[in-house]
Amino acid sequence: MQVEKTDIVQLVSAQVEANWEEEVKFLQKIGRFPSESGNEKALQSYLAHYLSTEMKMEVNRFPPDVKDIAAHPGFSPVEWSYAESENVIATAKGADPAAGYSLIFQGHVDVVSPEPVSMWSYDPFSAVREGGKIYARGILDMKAGLAAMIFAYKVIQDLGYRPGADFMIQCVVDEERTGNGALAALEAGYTAEAALIPEPFGQKVSTAQLGSIWFRITLETAEEVNVIEKLPVLINALKQYEDDVNERERPDAFKEQSRPIEVCIGSIDAGDFPSNVPKKAVMEGRAGLFPGQNPAVVKDEIKEWITQAAMKEEWMTHHLPEVTFFGFHAEGAAIENDQTAFFQLLDEMHEKVTNSPAQRQALNITTDARFFNLYYDIPAVCYGPTGGNIHGVDEWADLESMKEVTKVYAAFLAEWCGLIKKE
Ligand SMILES: [Zn+2]
Repeated sequence: MQVEKTDIVQLVSAQVEANWEEEVKFLQKIGRFPSESGNEKALQSYLAHYLSTEMKMEVNRFPPDVKDIAAHPGFSPVEWSYAESENVIATAKGADPAAGYSLIFQGHVDVVSPEPVSMWSYDPFSAVREGGKIYARGILDMKAGLAAMIFAYKVIQDLGYRPGADFMIQCVVDEERTGNGALAALEAGYTAEAALIPEPFGQKVSTAQLGSIWFRITLETAEEVNVIEKLPVLINALKQYEDDVNERERPDAFKEQSRPIEVCIGSIDAGDFPSNVPKKAVMEGRAGLFPGQNPAVVKDEIKEWITQAAMKEEWMTHHLPEVTFFGFHAEGAAIENDQTAFFQLLDEMHEKVTNSPAQRQALNITTDARFFNLYYDIPAVCYGPTGGNIHGVDEWADLESMKEVTKVYAAFLAEWCGLIKKE
């Protein structure tokens, strides 16, 4: 059936308003699951139940199976089990595939560690609502987006419609350490003609993102040598590497940013007693890379950089640090043509809902959108709500922004898939 776009936006907007308190409660509900990477199962059980009973979707659940994806170039090596991690894929079969194009809304359900918990103003999994904000670990990244994409589809249903083309809601695991959840879903054949990911980067349409790798540097000795005191050499080497990469030629999408590549030393584990000389130190971190760079090559380069720095320090010349890699092995990605029908529709719906033109952005982080664009030729972007303190203390999501994103997603879904009136 034909409904004018302006009418669609009005129609879905009114229904988003009608469902609003329910949507906020849903966000608080999912915000209270401590779904850190590797511990997503309880939240996934809740979502699977919700999507099958409330939303009447066909739901499939499965953990990422490493042997199915290990040979894929997008695979990231893991040192952990997926026993408590399951993807949840909910499908609504299209009522009339000729009415539009198939679509995926995808979000990750895992969150990063809430530490240091003692610095929070609230319990990080209490999802307290204050004014127009909700506070919790992962509430912004990216449970507000999950709520928006699920309630966008709820709006379509409540209005008495079904999608014309096939539509999927994918709730995936382990995005914060690898992206293997999203990869496993795509490799299992859960694909479509386009995908939207409501990662929380302020209602802007992403056209590029950096890649990421994780590294581990181990310095160990049986000698009476304090390895902690040797670490500055390695830390300086990493910072110099960061300077060097940021001064190199880079893709157009990142030309406007002064220092897009960050090398983050995320943890140091060394020593165990004030009077003992530490014999072992382990530093772990993340390094960004530009689209077009091969993660394997970047890994070799970092290893070489560390080795060269160590060779300049007398003791380390004979005790070279071991450099290994685990977790993120992610390429960057950039979309060449941002004026296809997919982008135009998203721009138009954003503009109609917010009364302001859609903006583009290049993300200096990594998201699951890369898999769609790099390996499956499926246009995929991040467009999601706003908030603050992402991965930090007192992380919060902006409710007004979540409401707008819900409207944009509902209107996009209606136009992209086509709508069929339920009998
Ligand atoms: Zn995220």
